[in-house]
Amino acid sequence: MPQVFLLAACAALLPLSGLAQAPAKPESPRSIGVFMDFESAPGAASVEIMKREVESLLKPSGVSLAWRLVRDNHGNEPFAGLVVLKFKGQCKAEGAYSVTGAFGSAGESETLASTKVDHGRVLPYSEVECDQVRQALSYLAPGAGQKERQRALGVAMGRVVAHELYHILAGTTTHAGKGLAKASHSFEDLVSTDKLSFTAEDARAITTGAR
Ligand SMILES: [Zn+2]
Repeated sequence: MPQVFLLAACAALLPLSGLAQAPAKPESPRSIGVFMDFESAPGAASVEIMKREVESLLKPSGVSLAWRLVRDNHGNEPFAGLVVLKFKGQCKAEGAYSVTGAFGSAGESETLASTKVDHGRVLPYSEVECDQVRQALSYLAPGAGQKERQRALGVAMGRVVAHELYHILAGTTTHAGKGLAKASHSFEDLVSTDKLSFTAEDARAITTGAR
């Protein structure tokens, strides 16, 4: 079963210095502005499902999210913290996509997303590789319809985004042994209708901003 690896640590400087802002001291609830930047027009249904999935996964941490587009940022909204999510590739389930194509032989891993790390410090900037995430659709039951594909892509994107937000909000490059903060997950798990969640310890780390 192909495993996917979610965090690639890149020692690169954050290019969006205008938006970069260190997460503020924990408040209750922490309101985080999540600024999205899509390389190409995403599937609207999948994006909405992604947002709900992330919110549901972060709910136990008491973090509230405000979703915005980078192009709509005017820098005049008071948030406890800012995160920038760059979505690369095609973030939509619609359109022709071979579900019979071979990929991901046993033991292979694909990077689905990465978060910038500079000198050990996690920066609030993640990139999501939608073309890689979309491969999870091949793990749906044969004949899955458009709606199911849109749901599955949204849920998979949400789980990938929540994993990266864990790194940013908990301020850690560490992975957990179980739960959504594990370093790798199977494609089956990403689109599964079973709930994935953070462990209580990881949820607490997200709440307090320190693991
Ligand atoms: Zn990770």
